[in-house]
This record gives sequence, C-alpha cells and structure tokens, in this order.
Amino acid sequence: MPTIAIAGNPNTGKSSLFNALTGLHQHTGNWPGKTIEKKEGEFSLGAEKVKVVDLPGTYSLTAVSAEEIVARDFIVRDKPDIVVINADATNLERNLYLVVQVLELTPRAILNLNMIDQLKNKGMEINQVALSEQLGIPVVSTVALKKKGIPELIATVEQVQAGKLQTQPASLDYGPEVESYLSELASLIGKSDYPARWLAIKLLEKDPAVIELLQTDGKKEAIQRAEMLAAETEEFLEILIAEKRFERITEIAQTAIRRDPHVESRTEKIDRIVTHRVFGLPVLGITAAFTLWAIYNISNPISTVIEQGFQWVAQQANNLLVGAPWWLRGLLVDGVLLGIQQVFVFLFAVLVVFFFIYGLLEDVGYLARGAFVLDRILSWIGLPGKAFMTLFASYGCNIPGVMGTRIIDDEHERVIAAVVTPFIPCAARIAVITALVPVFFGFGWQATLITLFIFSLSILTVALVARLLRRTAFKNSPSSLVLELPDYRLPALSNVLRTTTERTIGAMKKALYYFPPFAVLIWVLFNFPAGAAPVDTWGAQVGSFLNPIGGMIGLGGKDMTAFLFTYPAKELSLLYLGLTYGGVDESGLLNALHAAWTPLQALSFLIFLTLYSPCLGTITALVKEVGWKWAWRNMAIAIVIGFSFTAIVYWGGMLLGLS
Ligand code: GDP
Ligand code: MG
Repeated sequence: MPTIAIAGNPNTGKSSLFNALTGLHQHTGNWPGKTIEKKEGEFSLGAEKVKVVDLPGTYSLTAVSAEEIVARDFIVRDKPDIVVINADATNLERNLYLVVQVLELTPRAILNLNMIDQLKNKGMEINQVALSEQLGIPVVSTVALKKKGIPELIATVEQVQAGKLQTQPASLDYGPEVESYLSELASLIGKSDYPARWLAIKLLEKDPAVIELLQTDGKKEAIQRAEMLAAETEEFLEILIAEKRFERITEIAQTAIRRDPHVESRTEKIDRIVTHRVFGLPVLGITAAFTLWAIYNISNPISTVIEQGFQWVAQQANNLLVGAPWWLRGLLVDGVLLGIQQVFVFLFAVLVVFFFIYGLLEDVGYLARGAFVLDRILSWIGLPGKAFMTLFASYGCNIPGVMGTRIIDDEHERVIAAVVTPFIPCAARIAVITALVPVFFGFGWQATLITLFIFSLSILTVALVARLLRRTAFKNSPSSLVLELPDYRLPALSNVLRTTTERTIGAMKKALYYFPPFAVLIWVLFNFPAGAAPVDTWGAQVGSFLNPIGGMIGLGGKDMTAFLFTYPAKELSLLYLGLTYGGVDESGLLNALHAAWTPLQALSFLIFLTLYSPCLGTITALVKEVGWKWAWRNMAIAIVIGFSFTAIVYWGGMLLGLS
C-alpha cells in the first residue's frame, strides 16, 4: 500500500487536509517512544488503498525539537512514497523554509498551497507554474477546510506515483566553499539510510542527532573532518548555510509571489493601530486594565457564593466536633478546612477568569502583539526579543516561564531572560493581590490603578535587572525580536475552555497539595504552647525576631513571617494571614486585616510579596536552566529590590501624608 506523508508548519491546515483526504478512515496513536500524537488514515485510489500519515507540524527539520526529529526520521526511515508539503499560501515565503529542507531529504514531494481562499484578501497572487519550475516539484492548491482542490491533489499524487509527473528538485547551491566541503564529507560518509549530502549538510550545521548517528555508524572520520573544516573557516558554517537558504527562498518568492501593495488584509488593518508605535501601548494598557477589571468584577461574586458554602460546612463541622478537644477542632476546622476553603475562595474564581481571558487573548492572536509592542521598549532596555513570549507565559506561572527561556539561542540572553522572569507576578501572586486590593481600595478604578501600579513596578524591575546584567555581566547588544505575528482570528471557544480548564486544574492541584499541611503547621505555630497568650505563641516569637526587619517596610514581624511560608507557594501568604488575623466563623480575614493594616501597609505587603523572592518551584527551575550561580544571584537581587522598592513606596507614601 503506497504511503503519503503530510508535512508542514503548524496551523497551515495539515489536519484539515488529512481529514479531507481520509474522512472517517483514520486512527490516532502516538509516535513510538514519544508523547507526540500520530494520526494515520487511508483513502481509496481506484482499487488501491493509500495510507496517509499526518506528520507533526514543524517550521524546520533541525534536531531542536522532538517533533522535528519525528518528522525527518519518518521521511527517511519509513520512506513514504510521496511527501505532501502543506503550506499556508498566505505565508508562503515563511513556509518555503521547510519546503527547501524537505527537498534535501527526499525528491518525491508535492507542494500543496492551502488556504488559497485567503489570498485575495491579502492582495496576493501566486504563480504556481513558476513556483513549480523553481522548486522542481508539482504544485497544487486547496481550501482544505472546504474540501476544495482535493481531487486535483489526489490526481497529482497518482501521476507522481505512476511516474507520469517528474519530481526533480535541483539541490540548493551553498556556494563553492561549502559545496566542496559537502562533497568531501559526503564521500567520507558513503552510503546509509539518509542521503549523504543531507548528512553532510547537517554535520556542518552541527546537528547533534546526526553526529550521534554517524558516531554509532562508525563514521568518526567524517565527524572529525567536519570539526576541522569548521575550525578552519572564519565564518560560522551553520550561519552561512542558513543565509544561503534564505537567499534561495527570497529568490523563489520573488519569482512566484506577487503582492498588491494597495490591498490591506484585515489583520494588517487591525495591526495598524494595535501594533502602532504610539497607540500600541495604550491598547495594551487598556487590555491589561480590562483583564484586571474582569477579574475583580466577575470572580468576586463567584467567590462569595463559594465562601458561603464553606461557612455552612464549617458550621456543620463545628457542630459535629462539639465534644472534641479544642486542639482537634482547631486543627480540623481552623487549620485544614480553612486551608481548603482559601484555595477555593481566593484562587478558584480568579484563576478561571484570568486563564480564560489569557487563553482568549492567546487564541485571538493578541498575546503575540502585546509582546511585539513591549519588545521595542524593552529591547531598548537590553532584554532579548524572544524573551517576551516566556515573560508572558510567566503571568500564568513562573516555572514554565523560566523553562521556556530555552527557546533563546544566545547563552547570555537566555540567562538574562531566566533571571528576570521571576519578577513577573504569577497567577498565585495575582490571586493574592486581587484578594487583598479590594479590601483596602474597593472594586472601582482605584483598585485597578493600584493593581496596575504593582504590575508596573514588576515590569520596571524586569527592565532594571535586565539592563543591569547587560551593563555588568554580559556586554553585548541584544538581538531583536523575530516574532511571528499570527493572523487575527475568531477565538475557538472550545480551545480556550480546554486550556482554561487544564491551567486552572494544574494550579488548583498545586495549591490543594500545599495548603492543608501548611495550614496545620501555621495553626500549631500560633496556638501552641497550649493556653499561651497570642503574643507568647511559637509563631509570635519567631515574628518578634522579624519585627525590626519588617519595620523597614512598614510591616510587623507577624506579617514578615508570612513571607517565610511563601517559598512553597505564594498563595500560602493568604492562608497565613487568614489563620493569624482572622478565622473561619466571621468573614474573618478581610475584616480583621482591614482593622489591622492601613492601605499603605497593604500595598507594602503586596509589593514585597511580588518582588522579594521566587517560590521554591521557580528556584528549582532556575537551577535547572541556568545553574546555581544564577539562581543565587536572582534571589539576592530579588531580596535587595524587594526591600528597596517596598521601602521607597512605603516611606514615600508616608512623606506624602498617605496612610
Ligand atoms: P494544522 O495545525 O496544520 O493541523 O492546522 P488545522 O487543520 O488545525 O487548521 C488550522 C486553522 O486553519 C483552523 O482554524 C482551520 O479551520 C483553518 N483552515 C484550514 N484549512 C483552511 C483553508 O483552506 N482555508 C481557510 N480559510 N482556513 C483553513
Ligand atoms: Mg494539526
């Protein structure tokens, strides 16, 4: 049974094409040893059945990601009869990067231009004949979503299969120097599963998977020779190779793509304002403000209902435990139950609303624009462009943010990005901020402004630290952002709901795991020795040690103790405040805090919480990504900045007569 594989960039309609070809005749599984989904199906061609495999979506065929390795290994090892490269016609030039690479692996390919229904909107025209001549393979076009062009695609597959249509891509000319290296290496490599020329190219690109493969095949000579050539050449060979590819792609694009400069696509029209030099920022500010406003106004009513439910449960529990010893009742009701209650009251609704809006912005295509708008400003400060996606992810949780810095190629930039990431308030800190701000500042514009102020301080910190590192540890200039701005589209609600659910459950799980045991610990600390007056409890004694330190930022030792508990999870500060200031019975915490703190003290607490240190999970991620040296430095910088900024705001506020 002949096999065709569908390759292509993500989001080009590969799955739509696969579905249009195979209909219901498909099944999904995983690639052997990988968690990447594998979809296979079949369709009939006359009396014959043809197998179709949907390869993972990739932009390239390097060994950087598991998807890329799966795709290229399948093309070489499983030798599909034909590779259909599915390209987004409206972004053809970008898609050609993959096309050129597939053609180095196999000549038996067809280029399918999908989404041609969108070409007109963009004022584009593609000369398929010229494109086919340039590439040396057949070119067809489809609207996969509407199953248009599928018969023509199948007919082309059939003709190539029968040898009636030729596929003879000319190999890309890398220039005399590289070409002589390639032929020398290719002859050293000799015959194997993979085309020798391709292995030679990959060897010059220092592809780790290919080096390993040649090592196990006993082709050490070729590896050593490649190393020598690389050392002899002044320029970086991998860069030379990439440049040649881009040159060739530009050449092909110029021959085959025509753009009407007068036609503006919908995306371009929207982007004229949204990514505008001046207007881009207020749009971003309004989006952020709206998000915060929604968190306050949508999540609060939900939380109130949940809280009432828990109050009822606490009452029942108290009634049940009437005859039990005081400490057992305290532990269970004021400790464990309150711990769980707080997860649901303070975190659940905020997380759902936040992740929903975040997912919505992501799906619509705005998130990347926000990054783009900030890039200009922050690259001026000295932060690498690519870091923005990871910084944005950090608003959900810093851990993936830190791990995401892997996408940054430059070692120095990666370190800078990782070190500044933890200053972005994660969902946990956002939840604490959004729980406490309304207590002191209500729900109106004042609350929104205060929250924006805290957020701005965190961004300022990111900027300052990045700039500081650039000036001291890493003295080179930042690379600019090569960010792909996807077209705007209507959000797919199912997508957004799925990511919201996944992210919320993930965050809740973590909180539920930490809250009950720490609730018990905190409760014990502040209720023992048995019968002690509140000021003599163990916790209060620890707190009194911290009194002088807290004084620097307007807080008491008792408040400072809260920060000791935020290492496992930032949300635990809420739990701590609830247990030490309030109780379950009244709408405890908030009223008690309102009586105990001035608004300025509350602000002080929140700023310090935001800046003073990452949580243990983030520290672990930092150690993994950039090593102990930088993890320590991050913590040291954080504590200095936490104290300085908080002190400035607090004492500045006092001087201005605020309280
Ligand atoms: P994959 O990531 O490459 O598998 O792409 P999908 O098949 O999931 O499609 C990505 C998006 O493009 C979806 O929203 C599809 O509805 C849309 N899409 C797919 N094919 C076409 C097409 O021919 N025209 C248009 N306008 N949209 C398409
Ligand atoms: Mg897909």
